[in-house]
Amino acid sequence: MPRVNKTDAKTMLEKHRWQLDKVKQQLETPKGYIRLSGPLEHDNIVNGDGLRAVLWTQGCPNHCRGCQNPETWDYEAGQLVKLDDIKKELATFKGQAGLTFCGGEPFVQAEACKEIADYVRNELGWNVWSFSGFVYEVIKENGGAPWELLKSLDALIDGPFIQEQLDLSLKFRGSRNQRLLHLEHGTGKILSVE
Ligand code: SF4
Repeated sequence: MPRVNKTDAKTMLEKHRWQLDKVKQQLETPKGYIRLSGPLEHDNIVNGDGLRAVLWTQGCPNHCRGCQNPETWDYEAGQLVKLDDIKKELATFKGQAGLTFCGGEPFVQAEACKEIADYVRNELGWNVWSFSGFVYEVIKENGGAPWELLKSLDALIDGPFIQEQLDLSLKFRGSRNQRLLHLEHGTGKILSVE
């Protein structure tokens, strides 16, 4: 599988520098809560490898043309849910390989997602994947809570949805610009790219 070299990373950052303003727009929630756009799922097989739990976050600043879930953009819609209640529910799901964060944009609720990511890894032994409309290089450049969340992941499907690059044959992705990045847990280093 190909790796991302330094020149590619620089080009990606320059091309997506406009996203830096958006990744800083972290959604404000009371401590210990996360805003969700729908109920937790389990036994999902389309949002990552193996049987997976899925957490649908609310709020997205990316506004990609052709987005299938525009109702998840609003920062004030959806439901505020206690992180402790989510953990309790996740613990009742048996036989899951991992958890995937979908959206909305999980990285605008980075602190809350990281708490859940660390819980499922440490307490349930699951791997953790996330989708993001932000590219990896922007999350890294921004640093802070979004980069801390990324370091807690095993895989990231990154980049905005681009309607002109729609490709239904891609695994877990909607458009050809999006990448499936396998990451080294703890460092965020890219191990391979699909
Ligand atoms: S990042 Fe995802 S949820 Fe947000 S607008 Fe783009 S496709 Fe929709």
